Amino acid sequence: MKVVPTAVSPVALKDQKVYRLALFVAGLVYFLWWFAVKLILPTAFNPVASRMVVVVFIWSAWGLGFFSSWIKFRLRPLFLISVWFITIHYYYLFYHNGGDINWIVGSFITVAAIGIGLLSNAAMLSYSALVISLSIVLLILEPSLRYSVYFPGILTILLQANLGLRSRLNLLKTLADSNARFQLIFDSAFDGFIVHEKGQIVDVNQSIAEMVGIPREKLIGRDIMEIIHPDARAQAAAGMQREVSAMESIGLRKDGAPIAIEVRAKGFSFLKRSARLVTVQDITDRKRAEKERIDRESMAENLRLRDEFISIASHELKTPISSLKLQAQLLERDLLGGTVSAVNMNKVVSLLNRQLNRLTELVESMLDVSRMSAGSLTVDVQKMDFAEIVREVINRLRQRGGALLIHHESPEHLYMEGDLVRIRQVIENILTNAVKYGQEKPVRVVVWADAQSAHLAIEDHGMGIDAESIRRIFGRFERATSPNISGLGLGLYIAQQIVQAHGGTIEVNSEVGSGSVFTVTFPLSQA
Ligand code: ADP
Repeated sequence: MKVVPTAVSPVALKDQKVYRLALFVAGLVYFLWWFAVKLILPTAFNPVASRMVVVVFIWSAWGLGFFSSWIKFRLRPLFLISVWFITIHYYYLFYHNGGDINWIVGSFITVAAIGIGLLSNAAMLSYSALVISLSIVLLILEPSLRYSVYFPGILTILLQANLGLRSRLNLLKTLADSNARFQLIFDSAFDGFIVHEKGQIVDVNQSIAEMVGIPREKLIGRDIMEIIHPDARAQAAAGMQREVSAMESIGLRKDGAPIAIEVRAKGFSFLKRSARLVTVQDITDRKRAEKERIDRESMAENLRLRDEFISIASHELKTPISSLKLQAQLLERDLLGGTVSAVNMNKVVSLLNRQLNRLTELVESMLDVSRMSAGSLTVDVQKMDFAEIVREVINRLRQRGGALLIHHESPEHLYMEGDLVRIRQVIENILTNAVKYGQEKPVRVVVWADAQSAHLAIEDHGMGIDAESIRRIFGRFERATSPNISGLGLGLYIAQQIVQAHGGTIEVNSEVGSGSVFTVTFPLSQA
C-alpha cells in the first residue's frame, strides 16, 4: 500500500519534537565534552574555538526552529548535518593528537554512539560512508595510523549491522504494518473520508479519489472547495463552523459533473492542531430512486386527472347531446304528424341552438387546454378598449340569462394592448362563474385603471371557496366541491394562462358562504 507523506502528518509532527530535543542534547553534550577532555587529557590538542563553531551551529538550528517554520520542518536534515559536523571535528582533533590511544578510543565511541542513534537506514549508510572517507583522508595524511584508523570504521559498521539494524528494522516494520493496516481500513471504507485544516485538504481516502475522479496525491494540499459544486459552496462554508450531522450537498467531479452527496463533519484536535473530519456518502442512487418515486406519483396523479376529466367531459357532453337528440325526435314527430306550428318551430330551433352553442363552447375549451398544455398559446396583441369589452360580455350574458343582476362600474373607455378574443374569454369565464356559483345574488363588476395597469374586479355573494380549494382551482380539470353545478374545471385554468401570457395577474379572495372576488390586472402596454 502506498503511503503518501503529507505536509502536517502526525509522523512529521512527532519527528519535529524528537529532532528538536536531539539537537539540544547533542549541542550540550558536545559542549560539556570539552571540559571532560580538558580534565582527563590536560595536554591534548583541544582548542575551544573550533569546538564552539560546532556547538553554535547545532544550537542555532535548535533555537531558530522555534521561530522559523522553514527550519522547523527541516530539523531532521539539520540534525544529520550536525552529527556529520561533530564527526568531522572529532577526526580533526584525532589527527592533531595522532597516535594517542585515548583519541582512537574516543573517536570509536563517538562514531558508535552516533551510528546507533540514527533512525533511518539511509542516514546510517551515508554516515558510514562519511566515516570511511574521513578514515581514508586520515590514512593519506598519517600513514602510521593505519590500524587505528581502520578499526573504528570497520567496527562501527559491524556494530551497527548487528546491534542497530535488527531492532530498527523491527521497529520500522511494526510502524509500516500498523500504518498499512490503518491505510487499508481508511481506503476500503465505502464512505469517503476527508481530513482538512481550515479548508485545506490534509488527507482523503480512496473512495473520495474515485468519487471525484482525482488521484489521492493530487487532492492533498488543495482547497476543499475545489471538490464542492459552486452551488453548494456557501452552504459548505457555513457548515464548516459547526458539527454537521447529515447534510445533503453537491460534490464536483473533475469533469465538472455534480455528484449528490450526504456529508457529516466534526472537528477534532491532534497534537494541539485543530482539524476536521468529513465523511461523504454518494447518494446518487438514493436520489435517483426518490426522483423515480416522484415521477411515478406524478404520473399516477396525471392518470387520475385524465380519468376524472374523461368522466366529467363525457358527462358534460352527454347532457347537451341528449337534449339535442330529444329535441330532434320531438321535431321529427311533429313534422311527420303535421302538427308543427311556426311558434313551436321557433322554440325548438332556439333550444337546438343553445345546446349547440354549449357543445361548441365545451369543445373550444378542450381545444384551448390542449393547445396551452402543448405551450402553443399565442396572443395577437392590438390596441383595444377594455371597458367596452367588459360591457359587451355583460350584455351578452344578460341576453342569454334573462334577468341577471349585474352592477357595473366602469370608465367610458379604457384603452390597452392585448389579444381582444382571449381577453374577452377571461372576462367571460370569470363572470360566468360568478353567475353560476353566485346563488342568484347580485354580481358587481368594477373596471378601473392606474398609471400602468387596467383592473377588473368581479364580486359575487354566493357559496364562496374554501382555502384548500383556492390553491387548486387554477389547475387543469380542478374543481372545488360545488354539488349539482356542472363544469369541466377548465375555465379558470384557461383564464390564468391567458392573463399570464399578457404579463398580468389573477387573484381571488373568498369566504365560504359569503362569496368571492376575482381581481384581474393587465399591464396597459405590452412593450
Ligand atoms: P368549472 O366552473 O367549469 O368547474 P372553473 O375552472 O371555471 O371550472 O372553476 C373551477 C372551480 O372553481 C369551480 O368548479 C368552482 O368550484 C370554483 N369556482 C370558480 N368560481 C367560483 C365562484 N365565483 N364562486 C365559487 N366557486 C367558484
